[in-house]
Amino acid sequence: MITRRDILKNLSTLPLLGGLFGTGLVTGASAMPTLTSRNYFKELGVRTFINAAGTYTSMTGSLMPAEVSDAIKYATGDYVNLDELQDRVGERIAELVQCEYATVTTGAASAITFGIAGVLTGLDESKVAQIPNLTGLKSEVIMQKSHEIGYAHALKNCGVKIVFVETRKELERAINDQTALLWFLNAHNFKGQIRDEEWVEVGRKHGIPTFNDCAADVPPVENLWKYTKMGFDLVCFSGGKGIRGPQSAGLLLGKRDLIKAARLHAPPRGNTVGRGMKVNKEEILGMLVALELYLNKDHEKEWKLWEAQIKLIHDAAIAVKGVEPTIHVPEVANHVPSLKLRWDQKAIKITPDGLREQLRTGHPSIETVGDKEYVGITTWMLQPGQERTVAKRIQEILVEATG
Ligand SMILES: *Cc1c(COP(=O)(O)O)cnc(C)c1O
Repeated sequence: MITRRDILKNLSTLPLLGGLFGTGLVTGASAMPTLTSRNYFKELGVRTFINAAGTYTSMTGSLMPAEVSDAIKYATGDYVNLDELQDRVGERIAELVQCEYATVTTGAASAITFGIAGVLTGLDESKVAQIPNLTGLKSEVIMQKSHEIGYAHALKNCGVKIVFVETRKELERAINDQTALLWFLNAHNFKGQIRDEEWVEVGRKHGIPTFNDCAADVPPVENLWKYTKMGFDLVCFSGGKGIRGPQSAGLLLGKRDLIKAARLHAPPRGNTVGRGMKVNKEEILGMLVALELYLNKDHEKEWKLWEAQIKLIHDAAIAVKGVEPTIHVPEVANHVPSLKLRWDQKAIKITPDGLREQLRTGHPSIETVGDKEYVGITTWMLQPGQERTVAKRIQEILVEATG
């Protein structure tokens, strides 16, 4: 006779745990850890923390709502045709955000690579395999100097040369028969001399597609359709920032033919620049569900919550003599209530880096951003109630460093 002890003993050597769980053999075995009771991060010795920083890839972005993880779990249970799923989800997303067509990518960065790849080859499948060799294809992408950012490397994956301009005149002069794309960094709209609408206008005038990188630019939710409606041919968003989808997912939105062309470079097709940028069925579905949830949420209510949370932390900090907290909302990108903490370092004997380190090494660990001048905090990535822990810890550390 097999005893429960035998089953437990065998379990530890069986590679196919799932099969056994499914039989019901181990149900009610109270000594058995359930699938969710394992503390994987603890087992691995990996620190978890309260995220008072924001949506940073190094901190694994955002947390997905339960409905998104449910969709991901659902998707694990069946095979589907990858292209068919991308087609259907692309159509659905396009409907939801009111543009011609859409596709789920491996983050905003890969949306940029897929976007330029599609622009370079168009729908001509015979050209796909040659990327990043641009023989016979256009080879230049124009951007404003003030829009230069590391993420533009995603363009260079396809072999293009970046041409920098500052003025409208320089832009018009730089355009030639090698110009493939006019690339725009939405977050720096107000830093450049040429603003979004004018960028689109120049692209149209010369018949050159325009791309707007809006990776971190929801909220506000309207941005999901604002820039395709403005006339940008392609627009990308991160899936795992404000939208709270899978961290390794993103959205490429825009013109149908350009997105169909971009898809020629995407898995399952193998001989492509995008083969290493695979998005799986779980992430595709998770991205769709995250977007649905994001569109349907009460944005005003959420904003009020963030404001109240920021105010709570602000008030806890300002209660300490010598602290000068300021609340601000970045105009574009990470457009959420944010707090900057500065203080008189003669009265409070700790540096901003020192405060951040104490927050990080405390229990629970708290992550913030900042530099030598300030500590930066946002609350949009907090779990409900964590703002109180953040406020309390900041006050404690600052008081302790006083006098
Ligand atoms: C975050 C970010 C990216 C990269 O987005 P992923 O979704 O992580 O690939 C690209 N561009 C900008 C401006 C960003 O902020």
